[in-house]
Amino acid sequence: MSESVHIHGSYTEDSNFFGDSTPFELVRRHGSPLYVYNENVLRARCRELKELVDYEKFHVNFSAKSNSNPELLKIVRSEGLRVDAMSPGEITMDEMAGYAGEEIFFICNNVSAQELRFAADHKVRVSVDSLSQLELYGQVNPGGRIAIRINPGVGAGHCKKVVTGGKETKFGISPADKDKVLAICERYDLTLIGINQHIGSLFMEGSAYLQAAETMLSICEDFGELEFIDFGGGFGVPYKKLEGQGRLNLRELGQGLSELIRNWTDKMGYRPEIMVEPGRYITAECGVLIGEVHAVKYNAETCYAGTDLGFNVLARPMMYDSHHDIELYRRGDEPFDAPHPVTVVGNICESGDIIAKGRELPTPKERDIMVVLDAGAYGHVMSSNYNLRLRPAEVLIESGNTPRLIRRRDNLEDLLAPYRVAV
Ligand SMILES: *Cc1c(COP(=O)(O)O)cnc(C)c1O
Repeated sequence: MSESVHIHGSYTEDSNFFGDSTPFELVRRHGSPLYVYNENVLRARCRELKELVDYEKFHVNFSAKSNSNPELLKIVRSEGLRVDAMSPGEITMDEMAGYAGEEIFFICNNVSAQELRFAADHKVRVSVDSLSQLELYGQVNPGGRIAIRINPGVGAGHCKKVVTGGKETKFGISPADKDKVLAICERYDLTLIGINQHIGSLFMEGSAYLQAAETMLSICEDFGELEFIDFGGGFGVPYKKLEGQGRLNLRELGQGLSELIRNWTDKMGYRPEIMVEPGRYITAECGVLIGEVHAVKYNAETCYAGTDLGFNVLARPMMYDSHHDIELYRRGDEPFDAPHPVTVVGNICESGDIIAKGRELPTPKERDIMVVLDAGAYGHVMSSNYNLRLRPAEVLIESGNTPRLIRRRDNLEDLLAPYRVAV
């Protein structure tokens, strides 16, 4: 009993993204909206980055803030990647996925003594990003091992909010404070084990990253022999793949990095671990967000498709003006009409609740399914219960092509539970 299905957009079909399933079946079983991940895509991205640099002490730390589902973390771990954490919560999730403390790098920013204590107790490597936090770490864990995050004075990124290097950001210690860093380390008997940086997110050209890496290596020359040097994340993905946007040229970037590292280690006469910390590159493309069209209307001249994909489910378009490609799936005999500008909105009571403005799409119909591409990074992790909506379930299409539930959808009791304090 096969019914006809029309699909506008080619990515999920060409990549066999849903395996044995269809978005209609997945929504029937797990509700809409729904996050769906593909294991093959996730593994492919992990392997590409593991092979980035030709250096025996090269390590990839996956930035778990982009997606901390433990089932995805387990896959990332099985590919031999280590992990970055930004909070005790992420450290806990990393451990739940099987990571040992030694494999976790806590890159913190303005944290409390308790949080630093937590990290020290869990034997994770820690990086602090100000002199005050270095001092605090010394008080919490005298005699310990510590890394510092430096601000190399240059930044890069797709949007001002995600540029994290340069003079106008809150991150990092200035290299000019080197003597103060060393003095604090001496006072608390701390060993400076590493230096890291992260200049920003979503570069599509390797040149800014290479330049920042080069700057960083020269800064590191002043800090004595280090256990590791970490160039940061930010590797971009083509969010406009339906219109043919190309990929980041990893081969070129990898060759550039390998050469920098070779020259530097030859010159310095020692070989520290070299790390990168990609988040989005690993998880963005392995995830899509599925939603349903509930209403279609024209206000003035604008065609609106009203969906269950509010900014509570995917915050990036509203927060960063981000573009996500959208595919349409339709059951039944009615074919799609010619694409024209359609504004896709969610169900949250704010007029900024727009997932795509004036997007070239066929006129959607009630009960069509929208598939929002490249939603695996900064998707579910940034979702909220705003408007007291339920955060979606997450399903993994395993390499055998079968779907497996890896996070259940919230239920109403999840919303009420924290308030049951007045016994
Ligand atoms: C967010 C973050 C990353 C990962 O950024 P992506 O753009 O997802 O690669 C890496 N390192 C630090 C310190 C970060 O804050």
